[in-house]
Amino acid sequence: MMASIAAAEYKAKVLLIDKGNKLGKKLAISGGGRCNVTNRLPLEEIIRHIPGNGRFLYSAFSIFNNEDIIRFFEKLGIELKEEDHGRMFPVSNQAQSVVDALLTRMSQLKVDVMLNTAVEKVLYEEERTKGILLKTGEKLFAPAVVIATGGASVPQTGSTGDGYPWAQAAGHTITELFPTEVPITSNERFIKEKQLQGLSLRDVSLSVLKPNGKPLITHKMDMIFTHFGISGPAALRCSQFVVKQLKKSKQHEVVMAIDALPSQSEEALFQEIQKIKKNEAKKSGKNALKGLLPERYLLFLLTQCGIDASEVFATIPTEKLRAFAKACKQFTFKVNGTLPLEKAFVTGGGVSVKEIEPKTMASKFMPGLHFCGEVLDIYGYTGGYNITAALVTGRLAGMNAALSAKNDTRGIK
Ligand SMILES: Cc1cc2nc3c(=O)[nH]c(=O)nc-3n(C[C@H](O)[C@H](O)[C@H](O)COP(=O)(O)OP(=O)(O)OC[C@H]3O[C@@H](n4cnc5c(N)ncnc54)[C@H](O)[C@@H]3O)c2cc1C
Repeated sequence: MMASIAAAEYKAKVLLIDKGNKLGKKLAISGGGRCNVTNRLPLEEIIRHIPGNGRFLYSAFSIFNNEDIIRFFEKLGIELKEEDHGRMFPVSNQAQSVVDALLTRMSQLKVDVMLNTAVEKVLYEEERTKGILLKTGEKLFAPAVVIATGGASVPQTGSTGDGYPWAQAAGHTITELFPTEVPITSNERFIKEKQLQGLSLRDVSLSVLKPNGKPLITHKMDMIFTHFGISGPAALRCSQFVVKQLKKSKQHEVVMAIDALPSQSEEALFQEIQKIKKNEAKKSGKNALKGLLPERYLLFLLTQCGIDASEVFATIPTEKLRAFAKACKQFTFKVNGTLPLEKAFVTGGGVSVKEIEPKTMASKFMPGLHFCGEVLDIYGYTGGYNITAALVTGRLAGMNAALSAKNDTRGIK
């Protein structure tokens, strides 16, 4: 949609084809139905939050960036508001208002739209883009084509990975696809027995550990235990590292760790527990430590450390309290993977960015061919980063497809 607007603003005759019965289905369910349309953090931070080839976007951001996205929507009458971590949402809290604004702009610019129309493939001729073939067998000719088919996650929105073979046919490499921003699965007994199901932990540090026990990545955010493993913002952000670590280590499991009290050192915590032991010696462990952690998690960790929660605090051996302090700071558990790609918020991998011109989103191999959005091997954390990448690359792909169409001398209309 953004590419069609940019191309039309650059005076191209534009046709947007979508196999769905309406446009922007995924956008309309993003950000919990509120559309986290972009993020207001500084550009360096935006790039840092796009671990999948964020740096490729440096040049693109010098032409169109998050602040331009904000101005773009405000010009269309969509007021945006900033929430935590720089996340920008429409004031209406309605993702559909963002989709509608794009549709209105498309209609102002007279972008033609064909819905319920599946593209079969992109046509190339004599080393140049020539048009597309529809599933119906009909051919449509065009001097420039933008592939904006998205990734392969949540396929019911229309993103079923159709664009990858079209890119391959033009000589492009598709890097391995994998689920990212996806809940993590675990076979641990406490998960299988649903001991913590539904429990949310706020602002904890969640880490994926390397085989040597050192953290590969740590995210300090909220998380939730589910009936199959863990989810929530911290888990989603860790998920791609679980996938990569499983692949790299060729093991079936990876160890993760929760630091439930990240602002305190283990020693300081242990000293605090010792103080409580002195002052509240007669209370049960459960009551004396109340307030340290959410109750369910507290009871769980006490049990894990072999401490009877109803035992009088004074009688709990020091070494068990030391183990408890350690568990608060580093409760480790094994995970064995993630939910599948179809259930992921974002697809990792895609059209290799090494083969794309970073300022124009043009194919380095096939004149007249451009790419944008999640079909590219660009993947960010949730928080508006993927939509930012899609809108920015869309803007550039559309602009430059219009220019390449203008410069085409074959007379394709
Ligand atoms: C539930 C959910 C929540 C999300 N929340 C966030 C968030 O908070 N922040 C964030 O940054 N990102 C979020 N994302 C990711 C973000 O929505 C996507 O990265 C973004 O929509 C990608 O845009 P796109 O235009 O590249 O692809 P898509 O939005 O997937 O659009 C691709 C379009 O191509 C069409 N298409 C595909 N194949 C064909 C074909 N053969 N012929 C014709 N048309 C075809 C499809 O019908 C579809 O309309 C979320 C994703 C999901 C699933």
